[in-house]
Amino acid sequence: MPLVNIKPVLAEAKAKGYAVAAFNPVDYASAKAMVKAAEELNAPVIIQSSAKTIKYYGHEAIYGWMKEIAGNSPVPVVLHLDHGKDLDMIKKCIDMGWTSVMIDGSHLPFEQNLAETRKVVNWASAAKIGVEAEIGQILGVEDDMVVSEDESIYTDPNEAEKFCRELDLSAFAAAIGTAHGYYKGEPKVQFSLIEEINKRTKVPMALHGGTGLSDEIIQRCIKLGCAKINISTNLKHVFIDSFADYHTQNPKDYEPLRVLEAQYKALKQLFKEKIAQFGGSNRAPEVLSKVA
Ligand SMILES: [Zn+2]
Repeated sequence: MPLVNIKPVLAEAKAKGYAVAAFNPVDYASAKAMVKAAEELNAPVIIQSSAKTIKYYGHEAIYGWMKEIAGNSPVPVVLHLDHGKDLDMIKKCIDMGWTSVMIDGSHLPFEQNLAETRKVVNWASAAKIGVEAEIGQILGVEDDMVVSEDESIYTDPNEAEKFCRELDLSAFAAAIGTAHGYYKGEPKVQFSLIEEINKRTKVPMALHGGTGLSDEIIQRCIKLGCAKINISTNLKHVFIDSFADYHTQNPKDYEPLRVLEAQYKALKQLFKEKIAQFGGSNRAPEVLSKVA
């Protein structure tokens, strides 16, 4: 089916108390593994291209893959832009057919972030697609931006409320103690802050830095209103390790398609585990009734 708007997908997930898995594709086969994993579980899924990936392949290539993969799939697939910081790149995603974009103005002063996000919300609503926005600074490395522990700023619930009241957002990303990359030590997730922001904004929350969180933390975050969970670092590791492991175990096999097949299977397994863990299994029919 055609790519679907993120807004009803996340609204439905939040209403039913589960989260939709959002994965960052590295190439065509990893994107396909994401959608096949969703199909095997009859689940919705979000494919989110990073700005870095778009710069590497170009908008046309990524949109082409996703149009074909989603078009041949019976489950709802969202094509989302993760951490968009460049308005030209965001506009091009909207014009080309992405069904969701994130504008990350979290490094900007509040009023400027609000103004830039408003611009993107206007473009997106004209195209009938959704927007994710962020205030506060999420720890860790995203593309080439590094936010260290000293620079990290938890999201202020007053600012979050004001921001979300002014804008029609499909997802809201907040700095609540999770981090991009692997955690050193125990993550300090601020559950009371998630609860307060969710109560005051009512917007489905996007949980960034999903790799390495315990199942207990994940389930608590979902209960408190996180309806989108991003998994990127985990995927990067499986992508590279599965390739390397195959070669270690089969040092004489120089047939690239067999190596790629091993990698594809390992990735699909990871995606299925995450989709199931977040509660997405068998949710596709309910979601489809909302996006139709
Ligand atoms: Zn992120």
